[in-house]
Amino acid sequence: MAKIELLGIEKTFKDETVIRNLNLTIRDGSFTVLVGPSGCGKSTTLRMIAGLEKQTAGEIRIGGTCVNDVPPGKRNVAMVFQNYALYPTMTVRGNIEFGLKNRGMPGKERQSLVHDISEIVGLAPYLDKKPQQLSGGQRQRVALARAMVKQPQVFILDEPLSNLDAKLRNQMRTELIQLHKRLGTTFVYVTHDQVEAMSMGDEIVVMDKGVIQQADIPSKLYHDPANLFTAQFIGTPAMNIIDIRDAYGLELENGEGVSYVGFRPEQALIGKSIEGFRLEGEIVTRESLGAENVYQIRSRCCTFFAKTYLEPLLTEASATVVVPYEQLYFFGPNGERRRGVRALAKRLA
Ligand code: ADP
Repeated sequence: MAKIELLGIEKTFKDETVIRNLNLTIRDGSFTVLVGPSGCGKSTTLRMIAGLEKQTAGEIRIGGTCVNDVPPGKRNVAMVFQNYALYPTMTVRGNIEFGLKNRGMPGKERQSLVHDISEIVGLAPYLDKKPQQLSGGQRQRVALARAMVKQPQVFILDEPLSNLDAKLRNQMRTELIQLHKRLGTTFVYVTHDQVEAMSMGDEIVVMDKGVIQQADIPSKLYHDPANLFTAQFIGTPAMNIIDIRDAYGLELENGEGVSYVGFRPEQALIGKSIEGFRLEGEIVTRESLGAENVYQIRSRCCTFFAKTYLEPLLTEASATVVVPYEQLYFFGPNGERRRGVRALAKRLA
């Protein structure tokens, strides 16, 4: 088990800086997820922690020790990738114990460890099979088992589920969460999928263009986003955002610029006669997902989403929506969150 600290990390490839002044503490024993759009620097960050990539500047500490000059094999970090990287000619057992043999672990000890770990990941019946005789989920388990036998202080997982179909991916998510609980080891997990991040992480680091946008627990990211990027990245459908400079010609409030107003689709209440920011519009699409319905509504100022739970699907052509004032989010011209500008809300009409 170990805490990981990234201090002032920069990474430049040739002359392109892909990670900028990254400062992050990954709590010992946490399940920390790095999430962000493709190319934002998640894998590079993981690879620097593992020692597969050297940072251009800054310090990395694992368990309180600076590992800047420690090679990957000595960092006590195990990696699991999306393309399992299994040896095709070896059996499951051979794949799992390969690293142990290399380390010179005696046969008896090796067998016992492989046995225990294959039980944990549900591979015990398949130890004599070859990778091509296994399903995608089973192959992923072999990759996990191979990482686990190293008994590392940190697990690093780079999009490990992205090659699996949706049902298996859901199942493996749950298995990974349980595995993490059982091992108590620090997990650092990369995904571009915000739903996966929200459902798995106990701490989530949202990245964009090589910069951490927000590092927080899932509920804070959703309910208290630090900026426009996080607000729009987390949630399905995303937070509705109105550029009020275009829509209302409004800007300054309390000496602070507010450029955008946002609200979550489930806070857009349809047909309720309460106080709040009112929007009227035509229902452009309506989608029933069972317990919830999602509407796309085109109003004078914008097109936005509204979501209802456990209510019949509306058949009307248009709708009036109210967002309670306290459910509005405000952002400045550069997307930074603005708080305490409730007075502005009442001027939106
Ligand atoms: P993510 O994992 O978020 O998709 P990456 O960390 O893989 O992003 O990549 C971040 C940026 O660094 C991208 O612009 C990518 O093209 C660039 N990059 C990654 N690895 C290399 C490399 N070995 N050489 C040059 N550029 C790279």
